Amino acid sequence: IKIISDLELFKIFASSQVKIIGISGSNGKSTTSSLVYHILKICGKKAFLGGNIGKSPLVKEAFDAEFCVFEVSSFQLEITDFIFDAGIILNISSNHIKEHGGMEGYKMAKEKILKGEGFRLKASHISTFEVLKDGYSIIKGKFYKNGELVSAIPEFKNLPGDHNLANILFSIAICMDFVGLHLPEILEAVKSFGNLPHRIEFVLEKEGVKFINDSKATNASACLTALKAFPKVPIFLIAGGR
Ligand code: ADP
Repeated sequence: IKIISDLELFKIFASSQVKIIGISGSNGKSTTSSLVYHILKICGKKAFLGGNIGKSPLVKEAFDAEFCVFEVSSFQLEITDFIFDAGIILNISSNHIKEHGGMEGYKMAKEKILKGEGFRLKASHISTFEVLKDGYSIIKGKFYKNGELVSAIPEFKNLPGDHNLANILFSIAICMDFVGLHLPEILEAVKSFGNLPHRIEFVLEKEGVKFINDSKATNASACLTALKAFPKVPIFLIAGGR
């Protein structure tokens, strides 16, 4: 018996009208998937958020949606031949290497999300936010597409750090050029996104010391990225793990 994933099972029964967006990467998957979902909802689309982030696609809400946003892990990709209408890889760093039999195996699993003819995006350089393969970039507060200035981008205090700029950039690209939303409505929606818990989450300020919870940084590259979001202040890091 052929083993198929819940995503493939979903596609067998889902309407052919539903557009399926897959988001993968070593870090930033939950943030970007949630941000894309938030933008879709605010802009009036019927959307569903599921996959690795928690909900199975085999629920009524997913079957009723116009757009399904799936956070997809390398483990889920490894066991599926699913073709996404839009597929993106945010970044690739050395993560779960042992489980995939080396870096090549890990990359191969991730790249399965790019299979197919639809909208595809992959960071052109590991964890850079400046230039993506298809020419989207945010440089010094300005958004460019194929090298041409499109618009200024406001500072989003709710999403600090360059890594979040990358997450915003991917979300803009997908919502603009795959979903067909307009940039001003997308930017307005980003403003009202509350960052997810445990990701650079402000806890409290006491005697001039700000306490930040980034306990979702479950690998070294994620932790480093979070530290880089505070370049100008002395940092005390409380960390643990294997
Ligand atoms: P994932 O779902 O891939 O684990 P999250 O969105 O939950 O990623 O973010 C987890 C942590 O990874 C964040 O707290 C931050 O430290 C780091 N991070 C988030 N986005 C990125 C990114 N685009 N590039 C590198 N690190 C990131």
